[in-house]
Amino acid sequence: MTLAWEVTRACPLRCVHCRADAQHHRDTRELSTEEGATLVDEAAAMGTRVFVLTGGDPLARPDIFDLVAHVASTGMYVGFSPSVTGRLRSGALERAVAAGTGTIHLSLDGATPATHDAFRGVEGHFERTWRAIDAVCALGARLQIATTVSRRNITELPAIARLLDGRVASWTLFFLVTTGRAQAADMLTADQEELALHWLASGEFSFTVRTVEAPQYRRVRAQLNLPVAPGVTDGNGFCFVSHVGEVQPSGFLPLTVGNVRDRPLRHWYQDHPVFRALRDPAQRGGKCGRCEFLEICGGSRARAWAATGDPLAADPTCAYEPRGDRSDPVITGRGMQASTHRSHQSPP
Ligand code: SF4
Repeated sequence: MTLAWEVTRACPLRCVHCRADAQHHRDTRELSTEEGATLVDEAAAMGTRVFVLTGGDPLARPDIFDLVAHVASTGMYVGFSPSVTGRLRSGALERAVAAGTGTIHLSLDGATPATHDAFRGVEGHFERTWRAIDAVCALGARLQIATTVSRRNITELPAIARLLDGRVASWTLFFLVTTGRAQAADMLTADQEELALHWLASGEFSFTVRTVEAPQYRRVRAQLNLPVAPGVTDGNGFCFVSHVGEVQPSGFLPLTVGNVRDRPLRHWYQDHPVFRALRDPAQRGGKCGRCEFLEICGGSRARAWAATGDPLAADPTCAYEPRGDRSDPVITGRGMQASTHRSHQSPP
C-alpha cells in the first residue's frame, strides 16, 4: 500500500488547482509529532511500502525532518513533497535526503513561465522550480515531477516531457479533479483526456510515467497491445490521511470514513464499507460496471464522486463505450501482465 499523509495544509502558494485549498497558517488541530509517529508505526505494521509526506508545504512543520527519519527507520520508502518556496533554501533538500527521503516530489505545471506561474499564483515560480530541480539533481537524489493536467496546459505536455528528458526519474500526471480549488472549467473533456493518454502510451521516455485519476491509461495501453502494470487507485492500494487525521481513499476523493485519533488506520482502511466497496469491481455503476476493462481500469473514483456524489458511479471523462462483453479473453487475458515497458513501471 501507499499512504500519503498531509502533514499540514499550511503553504504560502496560491495554486489555482490546489486539492488541499491550502492556507497560510498551520491548523492548530494538526496531528502532533507523537500522533504522526503513531500513524507511521501503524502504516508500517500494515505492510505499507511507500509513505509520502505531503502538504500544503511539509516544510511548514519544524518537526518534518524528524518525521522523515522516523518513516525511514521503519523501512518504508519515503516520498517527500515540498512546495517550492523560500523554505527550500537553507539546506532543506539536503536535510530531507540525509533524514532518509527516497524520492523528492516537485511540481511543474507548464513548459513556460507564463503557464506554470499562472497555475502557482506566483510570478517567477517557474524559474524557482527549475533551480529546485537542479538542486535535487546536484544532490543525486531521486526526483519525481508531478504535473496537474488541465485544459490550461494539455498542449504543453510534449514540451514538458522534453524539458524533463534525462533529468528526472519519474513523471506523474495528475488529471485534474474538481476537488479543493480546482474548477470544472479546467477539467479535460473525455476526448481531450483520451488524446493525452494515447500520446502518453505511444511515447518513448527516459523516465517512468504514471497517471493519477486517469486509470484509463491502462485501458489505452491494453488497446494498443502494450504491457499493463497493476495499478493502485483510490482506496485500493492507496490511502490518504489529512492534516487533522481524517482517513480518506485519496486526496482527490476526500470522503472521510473516520479519524486515526479514534481508531487505528488498519481499521478504517481494511474494514470500512467505503474502502471495501472501492476495492470491489462488482460494485461499480454505470458503464464502468459493464466495461470489459473494469478490472484493469475501473474509472477514476474521485472524478465520479466529484461529478455525481457517488464514488461508485461511472467516470464521466472516459471516452470509451464498453462492448458489454466482460468475458472477452483477448482483452482481459493480455491486460494484467508484469510490465517491462520502461515508461510504465511503478516507481516506488
Ligand atoms: S468505461 Fe470505466 S472502466 Fe471502462 S475504460 Fe472507461 S473508465 Fe475505465
